[in-house]
Amino acid sequence: MAGTGKFFVGGNWKANGNKESVSKLVKELNDAKLEEDVDVVVAPPYIYLDSVLNTLTKRIEVSAQNSWVGKGGAFTGEISAEQLKDLGVQWVILGHSERRHVIGETNEFIGKKSAYALNNGLKVIACIGELLEEREAGKTTQVCFEQLKAYADAVPGWKDIVIAYEPVWAIGTGKVASPQQAQEVHAEIRKWLADNVSAEASSQTRIIYGGSVNAANSAELATQEDIDGFLVGGASLKGPDFATIVNSVT
Ligand code: PGA
Repeated sequence: MAGTGKFFVGGNWKANGNKESVSKLVKELNDAKLEEDVDVVVAPPYIYLDSVLNTLTKRIEVSAQNSWVGKGGAFTGEISAEQLKDLGVQWVILGHSERRHVIGETNEFIGKKSAYALNNGLKVIACIGELLEEREAGKTTQVCFEQLKAYADAVPGWKDIVIAYEPVWAIGTGKVASPQQAQEVHAEIRKWLADNVSAEASSQTRIIYGGSVNAANSAELATQEDIDGFLVGGASLKGPDFATIVNSVT
């Protein structure tokens, strides 16, 4: 890893699980041996945040998978950054491809959400990534840079942001990016930060990879210079596999 921060591994549980499986997963995480020198974060569905916060005994931080773009109020079905903070949640995942491409969130909306979350004390896992047709058209960096710029135009600073590069064609498909493919984009992102934000943001912002990371492929990906960790979907639902991914940095 080239960033100066600690290796970072997040588990994105998405809309999976029920009371029974969530408590089993928490128990597996509590029992797991996790490398000390890695920041570990899990993102349960909203309805399980409180129970996970209250039952995790390990030094694992907790993330929401979304938050509202502004102050809470008459926004049926939404959850505000203030409410997440009140519960004790430390992080929020924003800009995930499922919210961009299934729900229709735009770069600008995601930028605003990120600014609001940061200004209200949450740390942000800021996701970016190209569609398969964009990669095939040679537009990977153009798309990633447009998404990055929308964050940069809105946020008050970068110290509480982790960037998750998640090529959409790799998410939930079993088609992981090769270590070289991921490294190439991560290096471009780091350079973009140096050119457009600051040398400090470039060297200190963790750039993590997501998209079909599992216990068998994480160690090789982790050897790449600019891969500072992972955002894990499917494999984060199994405690022992997630622990292996957390420990893959050594
Ligand atoms: P996956 O999901 O690991 O299941 O591909 C990653 C993500 O969406 O963050």
